[in-house]
Amino acid sequence: MFKPVTHQCYRHFLYKYIGETMKKIAVIGFGVTGISAVKYLLSLGIKINQIDVFSKDVGGEYNKGGLKYILHTFNTEKFFDDVIKMDYVIERVNGAVFVGGFVHPFPEFFWYEREIGDEIQKRYWLKTRKSLDGFDTGCMNEPWNYKNQLKIVPDGDFIQSMVNDIWNANQYIVKKQPIDSEVLAEMINKYDLIIYTIPIHPLFNLLGIDSGKQEHYESAKLTIQRFQINKHKPFWFEYLYVPSFDYSFHRMDFKPSFIDVEINDSSDDYSQLHQQVSKIVNTLSHGKVNVLHNTNPSMTINIKGQIKYDLTDYQILEKIPNNVVLLGRYAEWNKRVTWDKVVSRLFSYKKLFETFVY
Ligand SMILES: Cc1cc2nc3c(=O)[nH]c(=O)nc-3n(C[C@H](O)[C@H](O)[C@H](O)COP(=O)(O)OP(=O)(O)OC[C@H]3O[C@@H](n4cnc5c(N)ncnc54)[C@H](O)[C@@H]3O)c2cc1C
Repeated sequence: MFKPVTHQCYRHFLYKYIGETMKKIAVIGFGVTGISAVKYLLSLGIKINQIDVFSKDVGGEYNKGGLKYILHTFNTEKFFDDVIKMDYVIERVNGAVFVGGFVHPFPEFFWYEREIGDEIQKRYWLKTRKSLDGFDTGCMNEPWNYKNQLKIVPDGDFIQSMVNDIWNANQYIVKKQPIDSEVLAEMINKYDLIIYTIPIHPLFNLLGIDSGKQEHYESAKLTIQRFQINKHKPFWFEYLYVPSFDYSFHRMDFKPSFIDVEINDSSDDYSQLHQQVSKIVNTLSHGKVNVLHNTNPSMTINIKGQIKYDLTDYQILEKIPNNVVLLGRYAEWNKRVTWDKVVSRLFSYKKLFETFVY
């Protein structure tokens, strides 16, 4: 007897015979940027079998302490409402700077003491970059632009939620393949569109663009050490800049029950670091908060380097193949690229992405 074609069979038929002629997208890198891109493509109605993802791991820097706040903007709100579909609240971001043994509200402290502010910024730059080359005031969250900064606080792990949705569509979507210039060259010929989110270097090598001071990229490491504390949300600020050279770290992020400490050129002297963190925390809390030892190994973020390229340079932009979209801090090689910028860019490519919808 003739067996009716089920919906599933029909879809299978479509994918097998027509799918092969569908336009294909490669997403390179599956950190926060790659994950957000795939989720956005799916939300537009692009089929999962049109997308191939290549990445060394899932989550990238996010797993190691990168991405702490989601800046509230028109677009990030829209992305949560329409794409991720997760509840959230909007709160003020409270920052501070530790100067002269005291905590001062950041960025307000800099507005009133502009000259001191400039000096502090320079010191912070020197501490984190070793020379004043390329100094710019954006190194501590641009204090002149970040007035009344608001953040989105999601009601859950928004990255995991996007990953789960992608897994539901196809749990084998990520191919664990490191991408170098050679592989990239083949991909540029093979795919109709490449969403490139990994560091810019393999692409520049391929295009013969001078990759600047490669050693900066190789050696500039950022270590994040996590310390548990014995009090829940003990302070009014969430991040604290520490520009003083008396401390080996330059920034502390206070989470409900732990502190992440950012260090350049970390030494292995863990007990000295613990002492320094305790000293600041004791000053702030009058000894009421204990910094507990950390059993986790330190988390090292390998990139961060000195952002060398100016991708607004028209001649460089001209060389990027027109089926390649650069997306994210390391692909655009621009330290100012945060998740809100990624989301804005994704929305700006909507029309291009929609040409892949069948
Ligand atoms: C300490 C720190 C704090 C930050 N805080 C914030 C914040 O509060 N708010 C904010 O919006 N942004 C923040 N950022 C900036 C940025 O949003 C985050 O760094 C974000 O996690 C970057 O995600 P990404 O996907 O672009 O890159 P990555 O997380 O680096 O992901 C890249 C992915 O590509 C893979 N990959 C790399 N090279 C290759 C290769 N050759 N072949 C194949 N795969 C490869 C990696 O394994 C990884 O999975 C912060 C950054 C840092 C370092």
